[in-house]
Parts: sequence; C-alpha cells; structure tokens
Amino acid sequence: MITGQCLCGAVRYRADTKPLATRACWCRVCQYLGAGSATVNACFRTESVTIEGELRDFSCIAASGNKMHRRFCPICGTQMFSAAESRPHLIFIRAGTLDDREIARPSATIWTAEAPTWACIDPDLENVAGQPPPVV
Ligand SMILES: [Zn+2]
Ligand SMILES: [Zn+2]
Repeated sequence: MITGQCLCGAVRYRADTKPLATRACWCRVCQYLGAGSATVNACFRTESVTIEGELRDFSCIAASGNKMHRRFCPICGTQMFSAAESRPHLIFIRAGTLDDREIARPSATIWTAEAPTWACIDPDLENVAGQPPPVV
C-alpha cells in the first residue's frame, strides 16, 4: 500500500498499486507549482487511489493543450494531484507528498525545452523536449 499526505496532514491518500510511470516535468506550469524546479509526478489509475480530506482545484490549459485539474490542500497549499480532463482514468500524484518518496524515482524528464539553462537534468534519464505519448 502506497500512502501520502499534504504538509499539514488534512489531506491523506492511499494507492493499492505501484505507479504506472514516474517523470520529472519542466513545463512552465510545473515551474510555478514546483517553486522554480521541475515537479516529479507518479501516475496511477484513478480507481486505485483513495483520497480523504478537502481539496481545492485550479484548472488551466497546459502546454500540451490539455485542460488540467491541479488539486491542492486549501489549508497548507501543498500541490497534491493533477489530472487531464480528457484522461480522467489517470491521476498524477506529486512525489513530494508520498510517505516513501523512493518509489517515485523518475524514469524520464519531460518538457526539458521549457527548462531554464541552470536546471539540473539527470543525463542518465530519458529526455523528452515536450509532451511524451500518453502513459496508457
Ligand atoms: Zn494540508
Ligand atoms: Zn509539467
């Protein structure tokens, strides 16, 4: 069982499967959400994740053209989840919220074309300049 929570603990979740994919994302929106760095996101089937606690939802059009819902704790502001409106069967969990962050080692870095020149990008990982193909 994979578990996690926001910084203040008002939002908790659990997932009963391993992530389908884990990637670091340097898209422009993630740089806002990640305080200047990439976000690291672990993808799960939505049906495998159970969430407890109140979330706020901020939606906007991503660089991919997808309408994305980004959900966060309204008390502490921690970014928790994102999902594309066109692909509701998948949920992306922000890796910093996992109790065991070791399970979220990224396999690829995406949207590297949007990264600033000082970004630390692991040369050993697959590097995708823009949006990769859908996970499933
Ligand atoms: Zn919180
Ligand atoms: Zn991103």
